[in-house]
Amino acid sequence: MYDAMIIGSGPAGLTAAIYACRGNLKVLCFAGGPTIEDSYRLPGGQLMLTSEVENFPGFPEGVLGSELMSMMRRQAERFGTEFVDDNVTSVDFSKNPFKVSVADVTYEGCTVIIATGAKAKWLNMPSEKRLRGKGVSSCATCDGFLFKEKEVAVVGGGDVAMEDSIYLTKMCAKVTVVHRRDKLRASPIMQERARKSPKMHYIWDTVVEEILGKERVEGIRLKNVKTGAVTELRTDGVFISIGHQPDTDIFKGHVELDEKGYIVLKEGSMTSVPGVFAAGDVHDHTYRQAISAAGFGCRAALDAQRYLENME
Ligand code: NAP
Repeated sequence: MYDAMIIGSGPAGLTAAIYACRGNLKVLCFAGGPTIEDSYRLPGGQLMLTSEVENFPGFPEGVLGSELMSMMRRQAERFGTEFVDDNVTSVDFSKNPFKVSVADVTYEGCTVIIATGAKAKWLNMPSEKRLRGKGVSSCATCDGFLFKEKEVAVVGGGDVAMEDSIYLTKMCAKVTVVHRRDKLRASPIMQERARKSPKMHYIWDTVVEEILGKERVEGIRLKNVKTGAVTELRTDGVFISIGHQPDTDIFKGHVELDEKGYIVLKEGSMTSVPGVFAAGDVHDHTYRQAISAAGFGCRAALDAQRYLENME
């Protein structure tokens, strides 16, 4: 029996683990496991898919995402967090103690902190699914090296699309950003960095209609949303960088979710079920930063601690 069961091991989950252990709670953290279907549920969360993190306070020279997460995990282990490196398959929050299962093994605890974060969004077209891993990717840092000296397209206009594009210019011959509007959503500093590379090209007001290729990506069919003109772009790879969605499928019907699938918070970090808390990108669609997720993790651990004190 655990005092707190934490689902997720990104900045929110691991910060919650550090605070809960230091509050003398017995803590079990479900860290995630290998990729399931089309979602990346890596232990460590989304920062494992990024390269340099430059805006996490305390690292004036920047830090690798994977290094930051491994340090957070060591810190959580140091204070006694137990880890299950696997994906949670079902939950039962109908009564306390709550149940969390990984396949046929069930764990019990008096509080749960949901910190499963978010996963990459896809365009959701059959050709994208068919060619995933054959030139279609959602992770430039993971797959960029497969496209050395090749031409790639990046779909999206946010910070991640710029970050991915800049990263890809280091190894690819040409990077074409395909964006559905004529203005990038990315922050000015990221736009400025991207603008510096002569390898960067932009196609504005355009959506991808189809990814072309039999065995591998050979091109994309594009449609200009203003003129309706349909064109084809030859490309060796397509990186989909159009944002993320909360990883909450297993919580449907167990805690209240909003129309986009984010967990709804009721009081502080408490969900619709007293004793079940949420932290990070799984409920926060506004800030979505590693540092804000860590702050939310701290808040959830303190709220869980107070909840347990009132239970006694
Ligand atoms: P985002 O800011 O939501 O941007 C998503 C982009 O994809 C937008 O340009 C959007 O177009 C486009 N898009 C969405 N759905 C689409 C679809 N179905 N088809 C075509 N295009 C589509 O997401 P993000 O870039 O993943 O960033 C997530 C958060 O992390 C943001 O808050 C970002 O600032 C932050 N972040 C910051 C940094 C940094 O500061 N260094 C680095 C990485 C991430 P529209 O613009 O038309 O909506």
